[in-house]
Amino acid sequence: MTASPPFGMLAELTHRCPLHCPYCSNPLELVRRDRELTTDQWRSVLTQARALGVLQVHLSGGEPLARRDLPELVGHAHGLGCYVNLVTSGLGLTHERMADLARRGVEHVQLSVQAADEERADIIAGARAAKHKKAAAAAIREAGLPLTVNVVLHRRNHDQVGAIIDLAEELGADRLELANTQFYGWALRNRAALMPTRAQLDAAEPVVRAARRRLAGRVEVVYVLADYQDRLPKPCMHGWGARQLTVAPDGTVLPCPSAHVITSLEFDNVTERPLAEIWYESSSFNAYRGEEWMREPCRSCDRRGVDFGGCRCQAFLLTGAAENTDPVCALSPHHGVVEQAVAPAVDVPFVMRG
Ligand code: SF4
Repeated sequence: MTASPPFGMLAELTHRCPLHCPYCSNPLELVRRDRELTTDQWRSVLTQARALGVLQVHLSGGEPLARRDLPELVGHAHGLGCYVNLVTSGLGLTHERMADLARRGVEHVQLSVQAADEERADIIAGARAAKHKKAAAAAIREAGLPLTVNVVLHRRNHDQVGAIIDLAEELGADRLELANTQFYGWALRNRAALMPTRAQLDAAEPVVRAARRRLAGRVEVVYVLADYQDRLPKPCMHGWGARQLTVAPDGTVLPCPSAHVITSLEFDNVTERPLAEIWYESSSFNAYRGEEWMREPCRSCDRRGVDFGGCRCQAFLLTGAAENTDPVCALSPHHGVVEQAVAPAVDVPFVMRG
């Protein structure tokens, strides 16, 4: 199958992070600081990505503000003609830093928020973070940039959906993304503690619907339902190796941010192979392009061109083979593993990201 050029790149500049969120989807084994790409290597990655066709660059982590060279990398990506999005916890984002980053080319900021009230937010973040986020939101607005507030929903904050929407409005968000936890990396370890109850999900939906009506034209409210409680999988990444790529802090190039969980694949590193070659020719990017790799029931299913058989990472983690149908799908012979994971209604303490 001939691949099209990628549209976007998630550049995970570092895994270092001041927060300790139990729903973190980064790998269990984080990339240490001394294995992170250097400034020159990141500049080269950005240049290669633009030459490959990338137009949107998402600077993320961990916390991208932990990299001292962030302003230089922003300026470089902007100079190449990329749209630059900063994905941040907001800790360390002062008015001066935000103004400087905006001058250098950041055009949009995604700010994570953990809960509606400071006490609960700080417990979930494992740090005194909430009040800094309010200051960060003010700095983003003052810089004149559009703001998206990102909230990962789970059992410990799902009952606050209404109050979280109010908070996003108060922070001046243009967009609010309420996304239920995806169970990869550290989050999978905390699955039982994070899994929302059916009652929580049922209660949230009318709240979101009412908020969408009330805020129409002012704040876009996106609500992503919990994967495990759906009967149809999501079209993960709009297809494997179709539109996006991720570069991890050490230069490993991944078809999706969670692909590191698929230990049956070997992923190339941009320090050893050009990015264009990895995109078009590597075994990892070609593994699940098109439909040839699909097994039944996906192979003969009418929805295979709509959802691409769901998420390969989830299929690998829950069934042991990434070629299998995502077990979230009710047609999967492995769907029982998802039903079992949803079932327990007891509260379990979560393990903070160390
Ligand atoms: Fe999608 Fe495969 Fe399920 Fe069909 S069988 S709905 S293609 S995951």
